[in-house]
Amino acid sequence: MRKGTLYVFTGPSGAGKGTLLARLQAQDDRLFYSISATTRAPRPGETDGVQYYFLSKAEFEEKIAQNAFLEHARYVDNYYGTLEAPVNEKLEQGFDVVLEIEVQGAMQVHEKRPDAVMVFIAPPSFEELAARLRGRGTEDEEKVLKRLETAKEELKHQNEFDYVVVNDQLDRAVEELKGILAKRRT
Ligand code: ADP
Ligand code: 5GP
Repeated sequence: MRKGTLYVFTGPSGAGKGTLLARLQAQDDRLFYSISATTRAPRPGETDGVQYYFLSKAEFEEKIAQNAFLEHARYVDNYYGTLEAPVNEKLEQGFDVVLEIEVQGAMQVHEKRPDAVMVFIAPPSFEELAARLRGRGTEDEEKVLKRLETAKEELKHQNEFDYVVVNDQLDRAVEELKGILAKRRT
């Protein structure tokens, strides 16, 4: 059976990665979204095993020691990582797998899996990024500022990716992403 393709969606927090991915997934039953592990606290409405596997720092570090991660990184004040086994299993089954991760982790995947398709989701402007992050209302102002500081660094790396998709209008950006997925499926 033909193996699936690994896609990495990266870009600064608030650019719209999660929103775009949810739209894509709703229209595409061959796309498997990899559930990451994190040490950050669940937001209201988030459930363990759905948005993330929520781990303690000790649990996360144990998985690092076991080499269980395809990639992992510290982002702002927490660990985030992709468990390797479920990703490999889905790819073997012929599903396309998408990782929604920050930039350091994306670079690790690029090194380990040179065949992964690397997509950077960019905001139309830094001001719009800040407005979206604040508008989402999931972080207090101190954490928003830390995320925006990190975003400045992340945005410098966008040209290292295979594709840069500017999330200006949702529908337009979803169509552009569908076009990228279609290229490997012909
Ligand atoms: P990320 O997953 O990259 O952190 P989200 O998907 O959570 O970003 O989006 C951040 C905020 O911006 C959310 O409140 C979302 O509804 C909003 N948003 C996403 N895409 C757009 C867009 N194209 N135009 C306006 N707002 C958007
Ligand atoms: P959030 O706390 O907003 O859910 O995520 C913060 C950042 O961590 C986002 O940029 C998100 O893409 C990234 N992230 C989520 N899961 C992973 C992961 O498994 N690995 C890495 N490196 N980053 C992740």
